[in-house]
Amino acid sequence: MNDLISLNREELRELFAGFSEPPFRADQLFQWIHRKNTWDFSAMTNLPLALRERLGAAYLVSTVRIERTLAAPDGTRKHAFRLADGEAVEAVFLPERKYFSLCVSSQAGCPLACVFCATGARGFRRHLSAAEILGQIYLLLKNAPPVDRLGNILFMGMGEPLLNPSELRRAISLLTDPQGLALSPRKIVVSTSGIIPELKALAAESRIRFAISLNAPNPELRKKLMPGVETKYPLPGLLQVLRDFPHNYPGRLMIEYVLIRGENDSGKCAAELEKSLRGIRARVNLIPHNPFPGSGLSSPENSRVLRFQEILKSQGRIVFIREPRGAEIQAACGQLAGTKKAESGEQGAKGEEPGAEG
Ligand code: SAH
Ligand code: SF4
Repeated sequence: MNDLISLNREELRELFAGFSEPPFRADQLFQWIHRKNTWDFSAMTNLPLALRERLGAAYLVSTVRIERTLAAPDGTRKHAFRLADGEAVEAVFLPERKYFSLCVSSQAGCPLACVFCATGARGFRRHLSAAEILGQIYLLLKNAPPVDRLGNILFMGMGEPLLNPSELRRAISLLTDPQGLALSPRKIVVSTSGIIPELKALAAESRIRFAISLNAPNPELRKKLMPGVETKYPLPGLLQVLRDFPHNYPGRLMIEYVLIRGENDSGKCAAELEKSLRGIRARVNLIPHNPFPGSGLSSPENSRVLRFQEILKSQGRIVFIREPRGAEIQAACGQLAGTKKAESGEQGAKGEEPGAEG
């Protein structure tokens, strides 16, 4: 592999030792890539010319390329990326009032086959490498406001991040490296359908935040809507993990609940959800379903969404309704579906509030 973006400082030092270059040169290169977001070796002016040429001849910072960008009137931008082997993923730039957030993909496709999700409908292609995850983020940052306005990095694009834990961990550790972007882990939000062992492990070892895609108030309905994950990690076990979440978790968990007309949007479901969530320090994001061709599903009427919210709120729960962002460009939740090779891109993501916790 000649893609340097995914090497940590230790690994860059080892590489440079092979060139008889001192360790501080590796740190300089790391800072160019991760702090200054420079991909062009010739611009790395504090590195000796011979070293720059040597790197340029044999290495790349990243192989990820933007193939297509679509902009929505609200400023949301969806970027389709083509990976070196022809796979396609998408990431979304989400402007907020003061901050902006990025929603990135962790897999090409997803094996979990949730019935309401465009990514799931496309099946699983492969895991993304840390280099491909960072490539999406850094390319988006090149055309974004300054990094101090970066709210959250949301692993809410294509794929189930906790089915790709080692590359996810590597990406997180590079993003939070003090010599790189030095991102606060609190600004990293991993959305998961509930891969219990990895959720527990990552929550115990890091200070990142989690969004849990519940989407159903009981195991039976969840199995219908989220067959892949519910079969392996049934809801009662997931709820117990959430009740036992580490005490030092920063703020509240986020519970994601996609509202699908006639499926999980009744008052009974709301009341049952409220019961299931008792004892869990979490707020709820209600996401009206974003339709995509062939799903046969749709979102409830607005009044029904509000009623669902009211039932939860009446029990003291903090509940937000998530506005669809970039729906015009299929950049909203669950619309990221990836592209087949040689087709032009398609796939979707979602929005989230900046850094602060609710
Ligand atoms: N696999 C992870 C992250 C990607 S999906 C997960 O499931 O959490 C990110 C979010 O989009 C999840 O909360 C999921 O429930 C939601 N989602 C998927 N398809 C959707 C759709 N068509 N409309 C609205 N939200 C959707
Ligand atoms: Fe996979 Fe998440 Fe889509 Fe389910 S909702 S199919 S877990 S990406």
